[in-house]
Amino acid sequence: MPACGGDLKRYMMQPLTNRAKVLDLKPLNFMERLYLPNIMNGMWITLRHIFKKKATIQYPEEKRPFSPVFRGLHVLNRDEEGRERCTACGLCAVACPAEAITMEAAERMKGEEHLYREEKYAARYEINMLRCIFCGLCEEACPKDAIYLSETFAPANFTRKGFIYGKPDLLIPDPKNEPGDFSLAKGQIEDRKEKVRKDVTA
Ligand code: SF4
Ligand code: SF4
Repeated sequence: MPACGGDLKRYMMQPLTNRAKVLDLKPLNFMERLYLPNIMNGMWITLRHIFKKKATIQYPEEKRPFSPVFRGLHVLNRDEEGRERCTACGLCAVACPAEAITMEAAERMKGEEHLYREEKYAARYEINMLRCIFCGLCEEACPKDAIYLSETFAPANFTRKGFIYGKPDLLIPDPKNEPGDFSLAKGQIEDRKEKVRKDVTA
């Protein structure tokens, strides 16, 4: 049965903004039918924009500076001897509101003192970057100076699995193998610590 006028009114959607324009359906005059003035007007607008400062940049060659409060991908810290600082206490996972962190703890064996700083370590440590909201609560919760957020964002990937970062993706370089990269990563962690400290005391 066709809906009556009252029903139609009830089902009509309300506009979301007040920017709706009423269409003027009167016939075009001679100048409007020429179209030339409107084409010239459009070209003038284009020409004006050519000389304006561009809003776009040539990424990835050019990069915008991050905001001082930017929080990107996580890194797992090592001590000066290259030992993993994480002791798998689980506080970061408990603090995480997105339940993005998964870990499995293991006991350090005799002869592994050069690998792990504490008697317990994370045999598996994973962060699901698709769940993470980059709030930084994990780094605030960590009592072992073991996890920080960096100024890098997750690159695109074709699979969901590619966004689950394990220890090899998260750990900073080992000073025994890559001393230069280790120093660089440590410097970035120190910068991050300073920013967090300022953030907390502000
Ligand atoms: S940044 Fe926030 S959401 Fe992401 S892993 Fe850490 S606590 Fe979880
Ligand atoms: S990163 Fe820090 S808070 Fe998380 S398990 Fe390791 S030591 Fe604990």
